[in-house]
Amino acid sequence: MPADLDSLRYFRQLHGRFAEILRASSTGFAGEASATGLSAALLSTACQSFDANVAHQTEGQPPLDCGRGCATCCTLRVTATAPEVLWLAAFIRAITPGLMQHGIDLRAQVERAHAVTQGLGERERVASRQRCPFIARGVCVVYQVRPLACRGLASHDRRACARAASGQADDIPYSEPHMRMRGLVQNAMQSALRDAGLSWLAYELNAALLIALDAPDAAERWWHGEDVFAAAQVCDVDPAEMADTFDQIKALPA
Ligand code: SF4
Repeated sequence: MPADLDSLRYFRQLHGRFAEILRASSTGFAGEASATGLSAALLSTACQSFDANVAHQTEGQPPLDCGRGCATCCTLRVTATAPEVLWLAAFIRAITPGLMQHGIDLRAQVERAHAVTQGLGERERVASRQRCPFIARGVCVVYQVRPLACRGLASHDRRACARAASGQADDIPYSEPHMRMRGLVQNAMQSALRDAGLSWLAYELNAALLIALDAPDAAERWWHGEDVFAAAQVCDVDPAEMADTFDQIKALPA
């Protein structure tokens, strides 16, 4: 999707699909299960669209160098929207009994990571070398439900990633289509959430996840319009500016 016009068209189409899912969710709403299911439905659409478009746009490009088990970039701050946090929380609840049998306590890992990285800026965070708490035995155990931020970071050179992680360089050849699609997909979902009156901003993943794991009714409260993860909010971009941009895109002629 090289042209801006194509990007905007894609944003609007995807926004429409998210809006449909959100509209349908109010029919037969049945509490926490429905709200959790809504998050899964939104993210299923988001990830399918992301994967299909990235596959198309990376045709002919140099291969990625991200291998299974490589978690070099997993010291970066991860931000996620409320549906992503809720989807991940539901997954963690489901896999926790099995992981516990192998001595892996994901919740405790999140707590420890959060204690180290809370309040740190990007550079300090990388310097702390605190790895993402979802790495167990060297692999990401939530890979299938990882946030869009993780999906959007794909490198053509893992040695460059390692040099950057050790502070020797900061020029990583990331795949541009992955980064652009992540932004488009996430923004289209955020815009639809905002139109539906739901909290739509981004949150620091570990802090938001602890809130979700501690509140069994978090999904339902979010569905009812509460900004459940407000304490974990990240404001890299002015929300008013984002909202204005979303409105301008939606107002463009079809
Ligand atoms: S969720 Fe998985 S892919 Fe994302 S930073 Fe954590 S370990 Fe890495």
